[in-house]
Amino acid sequence: MQRSLQKIFAILSLLFILNTATTLAEVKSPEASSFTIKNFEILEDVDGQYDFSTVSSPDFDEAFHQHVQENISLGISPSVFWVRFIPPAENYFDESDPLLLNFTNPSINKLDVYIPVKDSTIAKGRNYILKQAGAERPGTAREIWDADWTFSLPHQYIQGKYIYLRLQSVSVMNLPVMIWQEKDFIHAALLKNIAYGLFYGILLSMVFYNLFIVFVLKDRTYLFYVLYIAFMLIYQFNSHGHLRLWLDIDYRLYNALFWFCLSAAFSFAALFSAKFLQIHSDEIFLKRIFNLILLLSILIGILGIPGCSIPANWLSHGLGLIQPLVFIGLAFYRFRNGFRPAIYYLLAWGILSCGILGWIFLPDRTTSSNVLMLATALESILLSLALSARFRDLRITQLTLTRNLHYYRDLSLTDALTGLYNRRCLNSKMQKEISQALTEGISLSLMIMDIDFFKKYNDAYGHWQGDQVLVGFSNVLLKNLNDTQLAFRFGGEEFVILLPNLDAVETSKIAENIRRDFAAKTFRPTNKKTVQVTVSIGISTLTAQDNEAALFERTDKALYEAKTAGRNRVVIR
Ligand code: GH3
Ligand code: MG
Ligand code: MG
Repeated sequence: MQRSLQKIFAILSLLFILNTATTLAEVKSPEASSFTIKNFEILEDVDGQYDFSTVSSPDFDEAFHQHVQENISLGISPSVFWVRFIPPAENYFDESDPLLLNFTNPSINKLDVYIPVKDSTIAKGRNYILKQAGAERPGTAREIWDADWTFSLPHQYIQGKYIYLRLQSVSVMNLPVMIWQEKDFIHAALLKNIAYGLFYGILLSMVFYNLFIVFVLKDRTYLFYVLYIAFMLIYQFNSHGHLRLWLDIDYRLYNALFWFCLSAAFSFAALFSAKFLQIHSDEIFLKRIFNLILLLSILIGILGIPGCSIPANWLSHGLGLIQPLVFIGLAFYRFRNGFRPAIYYLLAWGILSCGILGWIFLPDRTTSSNVLMLATALESILLSLALSARFRDLRITQLTLTRNLHYYRDLSLTDALTGLYNRRCLNSKMQKEISQALTEGISLSLMIMDIDFFKKYNDAYGHWQGDQVLVGFSNVLLKNLNDTQLAFRFGGEEFVILLPNLDAVETSKIAENIRRDFAAKTFRPTNKKTVQVTVSIGISTLTAQDNEAALFERTDKALYEAKTAGRNRVVIR
């Protein structure tokens, strides 16, 4: 049930993801109405000593050099970068629709945009206006309510003049720059936000679904998975700029939360994997590797939270590449040793690794972040499938063990032919029932039964037919006894019944029923003949002076009396 639900869930999620993928592809398609800036000139300002009037002066013209990549892609650096580019001619766009300038990287710390204008009064005597954005700037400073940085571009910006950017960031300075017609931007933003919604929705449903299982199963592996995905979700929400869009929190808090979530996601991924892949305490080498990963994950937080973001960034990129490889290697090893759920796990981390590689190495920032989003969503689903496969595996092992345990315990205590308890069981049960009856002062009766002239029956019809009589007799017993009255095959054709809470008179009624039912039963040892068999029964009730042997001996005597008195009868002593 749980498994089929999970399958349906996974299929639905995959459909969502495919939908997301096509949506994202669509977002990128209206290329004609948006313009991606491709030619940049860069000036690295190592100490951040220049201001705009300096770098925009003719003296600095030579200091700028052509950027080799198409997009602004400057790696992780503490320097300030001045970037300039010339926007396309205005007649490229539909003049009736406003223009927007869009930078797709919510993590850039400080982004200053200097836009040339015709009307010098706007800029108080200068012919540039300054627009500011970035994660370190107050969230309310946004000109347009979008997770990326988007500004309206005055239609009268001077064509053929540079737009200048001043960039400063502790994260990867990868910054696609686009100019949009407003109506197309709104359309693309809508689709983009639907895709984000689906992405967050998948992660959130994985968290809640598995959280429910955590409460049901109390399994720590599920808990670590839930925490991993939950922190991943907050991290993604944060790094795509949505947290800052909704909550205008202070940059230091935002930064601390960013690193805390990333560090926690890494840590819980390691804890989850160590549990899932069953790293035992005697696998010292593997344990050390996992401890090292955990340590580095925590170190990311220790560095990042107080603000050492650049080393934290390097470390998280390195660990982001290495950690999945370690997990994949180990999962492969486990899979080869017969741990089947590792296959989903392998797929999950394989896909995430591709996503991370894409994110780091794909030149286009939008595509790379979409690839990572897609990979993360797929990973969360596959890991959830891996968990349920592992749970199923464990349950099968557990069931088999329990079944074997019951089987062998039953085998050692029951009689193979009749299914009644055997003589070994009688000894322990009798001891227990006698001491209980004596301490609680309740009655306990014993019945011993022996089939009459059974040797003759065997001799006449064979041993196999004799066995059918024994089985028939045990059925008569079970029909006449309740759950508290225990029947044993004592040996050969002798049977014993322990009857707690019953005195001799009550017991004799049951015995009489057994005797009568059995005598009325017909056996057909040959095709032509029906035969009836009888049983003799001795009964005795426990007295305060009795021990096991005394009770048994007295009952056996009663049986002997029944035999000598002519058989097919009940005798009480
Ligand atoms: P009585 O009325 O005095 O009890 O006569 P009896 O023939 O039943 O007594 P006896 O104890 O001499 O014979 C018991 C017979 O039960 C001997 C043996 O052949 C038979 N027997 C013992 N165990 C089994 C068994 O598992 N299967 C079958 N078919 N016969 C068994
Ligand atoms: Mg006998
Ligand atoms: Mg007999």
